[in-house]
Amino acid sequence: MSEVNLNGKSALVTGGSRGIGRAIVDALAVNGCSVVFTFVSSDQAAKEIEEEYASNGMKVYGYKADGSKQEEAESSVKFAADTTGSVDILVNNAGITKDNLLMRMNNQDFESVLSANLNSVFYYTKAASKYMMQKRWGRIINITSVVGLMGNAGQSNYAASKAGVIGFTKSIAKELASRNITANCIAPGFIETDMTAKLKPEQKDALLSLIPLRKFGQSNDIARIASFLCSDAAGYITGQTIAVDGGMTM
Ligand code: NAP
Repeated sequence: MSEVNLNGKSALVTGGSRGIGRAIVDALAVNGCSVVFTFVSSDQAAKEIEEEYASNGMKVYGYKADGSKQEEAESSVKFAADTTGSVDILVNNAGITKDNLLMRMNNQDFESVLSANLNSVFYYTKAASKYMMQKRWGRIINITSVVGLMGNAGQSNYAASKAGVIGFTKSIAKELASRNITANCIAPGFIETDMTAKLKPEQKDALLSLIPLRKFGQSNDIARIASFLCSDAAGYITGQTIAVDGGMTM
């Protein structure tokens, strides 16, 4: 990933303690970026990540914040700006699932998924874009899902949140373009992380049969695209949703 030069840039990645977010933190840091990542429960993992990068002379800092709460989202943006100098890059990655069929889904499961996956994107983007506007440069990357494009039985809450992120991203891409800020979505297909580890073998087999490349994706497949979208080479791409899904949605 050395073709992407992010020296001197500052990034904030939500949900960077595990899975896709963890890989994005690594891709940005390796390319020269100072990175603040958030987490909500993985205190020990966050500490170990910080120590690992510090021992290599790299600037990566964890911050505990529940992004579904506006004051915590805002305080993490402030922490990132105070610690690394600014927020040039925002990656809204944190997300949760609480699957159930419509008839069995209660209001709390619907609302908590919307809060964690969509409201948080609004809170973070509003707070972080102020720094980007001042600098007349910025990159916003929102991790949505193929489920936001296609829908999925048992995931009406998750699909609504991820489709909402796509509409939100297109709107802010139009609002912020004049300030040289781009906003794009990445829509992962099935990526092997803790989130997908809970699926049953028969569910995984059914999914695999829908993927033309006949394999599941890895977190690095998403991190490489995120890193590219942050680069100057991607400066003419905005308002897009890039599916990284082994061909699942083509
Ligand atoms: P994961 O392995 O479950 O990791 C989730 C991360 O988000 C963790 O770092 C977690 O922190 C953090 N997080 C969760 N809720 C949070 C909250 N309220 N505030 C702050 N941080 C929070 O998930 P993943 O598979 O890497 O997924 C990352 C993103 O990709 C999500 O938006 C997901 O919807 C999307 N996605 C994933 C797939 C897939 O196949 N895996 C497919 C499509 C889209 P803690 O470690 O502290 O709990």
